[in-house]
Amino acid sequence: MDDALVLKDVCKTYGDREAVRDVSFSVRPGEIFGLIGPNGAGKSTTLRMICTILRVTAGTITVCGHDVMKEGEEVRRCISYLPEDAGAYKELTGRAYLKFMARFFASEQNFDRMMETGLRIADLGDRIDSKVSTYSKGMMRRLLIARAIMPEPKLAVMDEITSGLDVMNAYEIRELVRKVAAEGVTVLISSHNMFEVESLCNRVGMIDEGRLILCGTPAELKEQFGAQNLEQVFIKAVKEA
Ligand code: ATP
Repeated sequence: MDDALVLKDVCKTYGDREAVRDVSFSVRPGEIFGLIGPNGAGKSTTLRMICTILRVTAGTITVCGHDVMKEGEEVRRCISYLPEDAGAYKELTGRAYLKFMARFFASEQNFDRMMETGLRIADLGDRIDSKVSTYSKGMMRRLLIARAIMPEPKLAVMDEITSGLDVMNAYEIRELVRKVAAEGVTVLISSHNMFEVESLCNRVGMIDEGRLILCGTPAELKEQFGAQNLEQVFIKAVKEA
């Protein structure tokens, strides 16, 4: 099967600032791939180019065989993007929010199916009928992930999925992402949390100062650096870069 996502020599400049430099990696269907790197490394810029929000300065990105610069519409049909700072309309209930979003994405024929998927993934019990303004951060994240997954994207791109969540909520969100991937969705996440990436991702790419300095499975990277965990790999790799 073709790769779900392929980046080849991708560059992005903002004025004369090179935010992303010659980044190449690919993500296989059904994989959970994690992008890690320090603040300002270029992770969000990379995710936004993949999702057609930012133009690519040089290089190519294909999503499910479609070029992001030439076939933006087809790409947007295959993906769903959840930014770190995403929110939902606070005056709506969770159910009304999902309905509102389903009206954007669904045809008349698949509206019910989309709602069913959204409600199942949100799994908020009777709180689905409470206003979003009363939700905890963990509940909000579940609702937003449900919104992102209910159109059944081939590739779900999620920025910092557990930032600001407590241990239990972060654990539940990771379980949810595993479940979504097991149902066949390819997942690309960015994270600062090495433990999270190590336990969740099949493969990992490390970005530093806009360059991809490492890519592999957590086990491969740990072996390569004689490290016990990804945090040690990261520190050694950044020092050597
Ligand atoms: P963080 O982990 O802090 O979210 P990041 O790895 O996602 O960081 P980016 O947000 O992609 O990093 O930023 C990469 C670089 O590009 C940084 O130097 C940032 O200041 C710069 N940058 C990002 N957006 C813009 C913009 N709109 N205009 C100019 N420079 C930008």
